[in-house]
Amino acid sequence: MKTLDQGKFKGKTVLVRVDFNVPMKDGEITDTTRIERSLETIEYLRDHGAKVVLMSHLGRPKGEAKEEFSLAPVAKKLAEFLGGPVQFLKDDQVVSPDVKNWVKELKEGEVALLENTRFSKGEESNDDAFAEELASLGEVFVNDAFGTSHRAHASNVGLAQRLPSYVGKLVEKELKAFAPVLTEPERPYVAILGGAKVSDKIGILENLIDKVDGLVVVGAMAFTFLKAMGLEVGKSLVEDDKLDLAREIMEKISDKDIEFVLPIDVVVAKKLERDVSSKVVAIEDIGTDLAGFDIGPQTIERIKNLLMTAKTVVWNGPAGAFEIPPFHKGTEAIAKALAESPAFSIVGGGDSAAAIEQIGLADEIDHISTGGGASLELLEGKVLPGIEAVERSRNA
Ligand code: ADP
Ligand code: MG
Repeated sequence: MKTLDQGKFKGKTVLVRVDFNVPMKDGEITDTTRIERSLETIEYLRDHGAKVVLMSHLGRPKGEAKEEFSLAPVAKKLAEFLGGPVQFLKDDQVVSPDVKNWVKELKEGEVALLENTRFSKGEESNDDAFAEELASLGEVFVNDAFGTSHRAHASNVGLAQRLPSYVGKLVEKELKAFAPVLTEPERPYVAILGGAKVSDKIGILENLIDKVDGLVVVGAMAFTFLKAMGLEVGKSLVEDDKLDLAREIMEKISDKDIEFVLPIDVVVAKKLERDVSSKVVAIEDIGTDLAGFDIGPQTIERIKNLLMTAKTVVWNGPAGAFEIPPFHKGTEAIAKALAESPAFSIVGGGDSAAAIEQIGLADEIDHISTGGGASLELLEGKVLPGIEAVERSRNA
């Protein structure tokens, strides 16, 4: 791994891809976790005499400059955290003659932030011309955006192909946390998959069957499995085009020595609404009118038992619609069980990580990944292009 301690940064303009894709509401940042996670790398580079030029995407502006996706609020917030100025190099083109001049004026230890890289059409297509423009701004590249490392974009792969490159502190931490799970997980190794859709997690489901000793499927995606087993799931979320796939996966599992856990009871209600009246039913008794929005207490017990004996646990995707009480209980119970379990635990996925933060158990979990898709691809055993390109980059 090409880590920061191998680089020389004094007096150099260092381009740093960070993940400032923060949640926003009405122009305000609602969660600053991602900004805080970038500080260690920025401070390291500043302390080592670099001129730091940060870049990130925010949301999906689809190649056009749109004010609502501007990184201006992030620059302001970052300056507060750093306790010093951050120059926001605002430009709808991201890189322009003006931006180039501003960067030339930077002094050692100063920090600047480019505008949203996705304002350029060349970002997501890893366009050569855009990557050249970005690369022309600096002499060294640091990839510290784990969450986008599974994508080959101009601001990660494009730069690593053109400049001597390193991974930042956050990416280093992520890769070190995942390494033992990927190579030789301590067993029993249990995966808990939940969240909205089976279709988001097909790759990981199929892949984990060959690796884990226990597999728990919860969240909305469990209902596709329950329906595939022939159960009536009422108005619960189901992906009808994934029923065959769910059957195939269950067949493969039955050929293996895997403890497979699906909900045995669920919390049902008429609609997904705060404090709506709800009840717990066995999965055979969902009926046609109601929908399942969480797992029930018996299912929670089964999962708890599994977690108490596990040595490695990965969790991606909430067990229910945790944002909307009373459907938070399953997710909360899993988080608590994970916190108590002696297992080495990794949680990935934006919503799952948010749930753990909300419950206040973040410190009890061994590693909370900043990458949803990226963490899933790692667990699938895939190579992340944004990391691979850094490893292959030329030497300084
Ligand atoms: P992550 O971001 O952790 O990968 P996902 O994005 O896949 O998780 O899924 C999270 C969403 O799934 C949440 O918004 C949650 O409300 C929803 N969800 C989970 N279980 C259910 C359910 N039974 N019915 C409806 N929505 C659900
Ligand atoms: Mg999500």
